[in-house]
Amino acid sequence: MNLHEYQARELLKAAGVPMFDGDVASTPDEAATIAKRLGGKVVVKAQVHTGGRGKAGGVKLAATPDEAREHASRILGMTIKDLVVQKVLVVPAADIATEAYVGLIMDRATQRPVFMVSAAGGVDIEEVAATAPEKITRLAVDPVYGLLPHQALSLAFTLYSDIKQVRTTARIMEQLYDVFVSNGASLAEINPLVTTPEGSVVALDAKVSIDDNELDRRPDLAALRDESAEEPSEVMARHAGITFIKLDGNVGCVVNGAGLAMATMDLVKYYGGEPANFLDIGGSSNPEKVVNALRIITSDSAVKAILFNIFGGITRTDDVANGIVAATREFKVNVPIVIRLTGTNEKEAFRILEGVGMTALSDMDDAVRRVVALAKEAA
Ligand code: GDP
Ligand code: MN
Repeated sequence: MNLHEYQARELLKAAGVPMFDGDVASTPDEAATIAKRLGGKVVVKAQVHTGGRGKAGGVKLAATPDEAREHASRILGMTIKDLVVQKVLVVPAADIATEAYVGLIMDRATQRPVFMVSAAGGVDIEEVAATAPEKITRLAVDPVYGLLPHQALSLAFTLYSDIKQVRTTARIMEQLYDVFVSNGASLAEINPLVTTPEGSVVALDAKVSIDDNELDRRPDLAALRDESAEEPSEVMARHAGITFIKLDGNVGCVVNGAGLAMATMDLVKYYGGEPANFLDIGGSSNPEKVVNALRIITSDSAVKAILFNIFGGITRTDDVANGIVAATREFKVNVPIVIRLTGTNEKEAFRILEGVGMTALSDMDDAVRRVVALAKEAA
């Protein structure tokens, strides 16, 4: 789950990371009121779940409350990478001498939290990673020991030579690590961490993603979810108890089990298609889940054909067949559906589908080849 910047910065501030106090606004007038209260120059920042806001015109300096109002009215409602801005953060503007990047991610390869630190921070860290990876220092932290003081210091020394800035920054690394671990984050990032002309170190941006598996035991974090800022199909899927991730292709996939779902996506690609989603209806059988899965997939206009790939074990294939029939009665599915079923109660499933004029296949390769061809035809 991604947090908004204004939420992430509360976690960082609570841990002691130096940041300016600001506030969020949903209207231009609110933005002006906050700017007036803060006094002096402010920055108006779009609150959306994506980076690159600066480049998209979603971060603007304002010298007066009136200017803050103007910027807010332009930024509110603006679309950044398909996301509509509904809130802006208003914070005091900093004078910037240098911009650094400090990030912490859960790294699957090392199975540890890994710090990534670069003096070349600011808006283009992806570019730095692609073209000058040597400018990024990495450090894997042993979760048993946590971040040790000498590690924090040596990371900080890669950014600054002034000992006061190094000490402050080492403490910020420890605070960031603390935020990461204590909130079950998969990512915690400050970009930019700036120095001012007077020499102080301040975090100007904050990004935190919480591992979804943490949310059941942390209602305080779960309450931070902003569904209006998320992909609508993913919100619908979560409510229906379906694991769903939207992708860019045109072959909709309904599969039971994450492993089979991934194998199915691989096979779709192998036969020259592109999956439109990852979708796992789960291990238990429940016709309602199938109805919801079809509703979610058909709400994506990019989908040109749909593949069911069901391996019946605990999942009863007749329940899935009943779900497909129920769905096509409840709403119109305008794209072809290819169904592959095998396993528990498959005879019954085939009979149910034949009863409404649908045919199912037993062979996975056959089904995938067919759905890829149908999607290509329609595209
Ligand atoms: P992002 O582009 O979505 O990561 O948004 P950021 O919050 O990182 O802002 C992008 C850029 O705007 C920063 O790298 C800074 O160069 C600039 N910026 C942000 N806040 C301030 C500020 O308080 N003062 C000044 N002068 N520039 C700022
Ligand atoms: Mn940033």
